[in-house]
Amino acid sequence: MNIATRSHKFWIQMKKGSDTVPNEVLDKIIIRGARQHNLKSIDLDLPRNKFIVITGLSGSGKSSLAFDTIYAEGQRRYLETMMAYARQFLQILERPDVDLIEGLSPSVAIEQKTISTNPHSSVGTVTEIYDYVRLLFAKVGTQFCVNCNIPVQQQTPDQIVRTILTDFANRNVLLLAPLVIGRKGHYRELFRELMAEGFVQVRVDGTLRDLQDGMEVSRYGTHNIELVVDKLKVQKKSASRLRESLKMGLERGSGTIILHDHDLKKDTFFSRLRSCPKCGTSYPDLAPNSFSFNSKFGMCRTCGGTGLSRDITPEAIVVDPRLSITDGALLFPKRDDFFLVSLLNSLLEPHGVNTNTPFEQLNATVRDLLFFGKNQKDSKKGIEFAGVSISNLKTKFEGLVPMLRDLDFEVYFGKDSADIEAHLPLVECGSCGGTRLRPESRFARVVDSGGHEVEIGSVVRNSIDKVSALFEELKLPRRNQEIAQPILHE
Ligand SMILES: [Zn+2]
Ligand SMILES: [Zn+2]
Repeated sequence: MNIATRSHKFWIQMKKGSDTVPNEVLDKIIIRGARQHNLKSIDLDLPRNKFIVITGLSGSGKSSLAFDTIYAEGQRRYLETMMAYARQFLQILERPDVDLIEGLSPSVAIEQKTISTNPHSSVGTVTEIYDYVRLLFAKVGTQFCVNCNIPVQQQTPDQIVRTILTDFANRNVLLLAPLVIGRKGHYRELFRELMAEGFVQVRVDGTLRDLQDGMEVSRYGTHNIELVVDKLKVQKKSASRLRESLKMGLERGSGTIILHDHDLKKDTFFSRLRSCPKCGTSYPDLAPNSFSFNSKFGMCRTCGGTGLSRDITPEAIVVDPRLSITDGALLFPKRDDFFLVSLLNSLLEPHGVNTNTPFEQLNATVRDLLFFGKNQKDSKKGIEFAGVSISNLKTKFEGLVPMLRDLDFEVYFGKDSADIEAHLPLVECGSCGGTRLRPESRFARVVDSGGHEVEIGSVVRNSIDKVSALFEELKLPRRNQEIAQPILHE
């Protein structure tokens, strides 16, 4: 504790001269009275812009000082300067137990622990740097349509009215204003206020409900609540009413309105803010959550945000080609799946083979039939199953490979599912290309005036050096630059 004692004296000397800390001492990080966890009210000065190593016995408080005090306070202060909306998405750290810290920069901590438990992650994703990247994309990113790959633009209320009049002519529709999207709460007050305003119906999690006294929804469930703004039949003569309702709906729904086709039971989204001009697909506002693979608003739906999926190929399915299907040549179907085995027999019969034929004796035509449902011929042999004979299948046999891809392993294989999965190699998820993010998020880019652009996918996969090089090339317009500057600096 030598350093601490000496700097304490230094501190007292400073105090004699003035009540505040002069600016020139800010080439140091000054810590006074740090008591986080087991720290014993430590005073310490650290030089800025230096590589500092903190060593000591296990339990002496190295992490409490580095992570829980200096890093925590640095990040907390930085986030405090962010807009309120951004803060709600980033985990705010509590103020550490310390009297004073001066000379701090926004801080980023790289924990070795995190890296070792996540072998598949790149550096860009394991550090808190990714929090800032998400923020950058949420603030200055441009949404591109996943279908048309063009920038998503906003629609005026007049354009929306024209679209509804032509595309939904003579349909019975509901105009719904989304009030709550995927959030928790009982929403008692919301319902009460809407009632007081004279509204009569809401749609809660897809079901229309009349507003009633004391109405609420389950507090811990995630809810979607939409206000029924109007019910009408779309006609030329109702255009002005439509326009009025739409105006109110867009106000209530923060720029978005849902048109529910009562006859087709189908929702169409319109946004004054963000919808594709070509195909009309609406997009939610970009938020830091949109770029989190741990959030359902960001994760790839195919791989659940892991970036990996099981590689299901014919090669992976064949366990032992010397055996017949009945004897276990294949991983799938399981041997007691009598229905599927019987179905395979009816398919193999026209080709002069059956499930008792050793797999290695099946020719390419038959293998294509087994794995991908090709070369199907009419079979005279019906399917014998549970004492019943079925001659015609309702659907065409699509092949073992696609069937296995859609299969719920745990339901089908039961306790063997882990063993079966272990046979199938893990590969990069085909849907998200390993970026772990859903398409909407992957189609958001930070674009500059010179046509340079950065996709979130290239950030997820690359090292810190590569990522910062990507951003250095960007020349953002001034408005975006002001927003992005403090983030890029990190
Ligand atoms: Zn589109
Ligand atoms: Zn994926």
